[in-house]
Amino acid sequence: MNNKPSSLGSQSDTSANLTESQLVDLCHRTLHYHGFSDDQMAALTETLVAAEMDGCRSHGIYRLLVIIDTLRKGCVKPDAVPVVEDIAPGVVKVDAQGGLSPLAFNKGIELLQEKASHSGIAVLALNHCVHVTALWVEVEKLAQRGLVAIACNPTHSYVAPHGGTTPLLGTNPIAFGWPRQSAPPFVFDFATSMIARGDIELYRRDNKPIPEGWGLDREGNRCQDAAEVLDHGAMLPFGAHKGSALSIMIELLAGPLISDMTSLESTEYDEGKGGIPYHGEIIIAVDPARTMGEKRADQTDSAERLFNMIVEQGARLPSQRRFAEREKSAREGVEIDRKLLTDIEALVPKATG
Ligand code: NDP
Repeated sequence: MNNKPSSLGSQSDTSANLTESQLVDLCHRTLHYHGFSDDQMAALTETLVAAEMDGCRSHGIYRLLVIIDTLRKGCVKPDAVPVVEDIAPGVVKVDAQGGLSPLAFNKGIELLQEKASHSGIAVLALNHCVHVTALWVEVEKLAQRGLVAIACNPTHSYVAPHGGTTPLLGTNPIAFGWPRQSAPPFVFDFATSMIARGDIELYRRDNKPIPEGWGLDREGNRCQDAAEVLDHGAMLPFGAHKGSALSIMIELLAGPLISDMTSLESTEYDEGKGGIPYHGEIIIAVDPARTMGEKRADQTDSAERLFNMIVEQGARLPSQRRFAEREKSAREGVEIDRKLLTDIEALVPKATG
């Protein structure tokens, strides 16, 4: 039986419907043309396509434009080979060597799991990476391996601390993953700014005003002009002083604690070139088999009871939307904005594409 919906692979003036394999092909063509090594290309494609399939547009194929722009500015090594270092019983370091974050993460995951399984807890520090990953991709992978995981990283200094007006903190995402036996893992992942910067970039591309409360203009006044907030003003943290404090914690954990840069230092390192942030990331993994011990079944039931009681009252779990979107995308393909697709296709000259 042919279950292929009529929209799959369809084209219109405003959008095109792409299948997963067409998205993969688009990423491969673009990255290969621009000299990314096979390993870098494969790891990056996996995360961009995963984000697009899950409806996380700010970290989907739109990022190809930003990555190639960063490459042209000389701010990323397309053929970097990450170096894995086993530096302590509970610590793995991966030096990305100026390459992109997805490959560095992939290189460290086996040793992280080995150490977490041995000691109960382990830390993976990624250093010197050009950071393009939506963090749920990583914590979901770890949860699928049975690990509870927390990941966070700084960015560039885009966000004013609560009560201030000068950008100093990053958009600083934090993600958490919890493995579940008969359901997809519990995963959340959000920027500690009101919204991810990529989303404001999309408002700018569409020439639309951003919602009130997302940013300030150059004078420190509330502002809905995406370009003014991005180029001259500041973004704002979520949750006032609480989000601001969380964001500072992330600066410390994924900056000085792992011998890497804060968001401010990442901005200074960029020297106004406008490349993607270059910094570190910390991933903490806990093996519940070690921490729960003989009580594992009871503890797992407690967690499931909590999840069920959340859903039963009509609330939803974080990632529920993503998992539903993933299934829909696999079935029906993904609608890609025509202008975005044209811009991405223009990265590879026709004759060579
Ligand atoms: P969102 O506000 O879009 O979503 C945050 C999280 O909350 C998601 O897990 C989402 O689940 C969940 N959620 C949203 N609405 C609800 C709801 N009503 N009930 C329960 N849960 C809900 O995230 P952000 O805009 O802050 O961040 C977007 C992405 O940008 C993240 O993946 C983040 O990692 C990434 N980012 C990456 C940076 C980097 O340096 N690499 C920098 C900054 C951000 P669901 O997905 O199912 O909706």
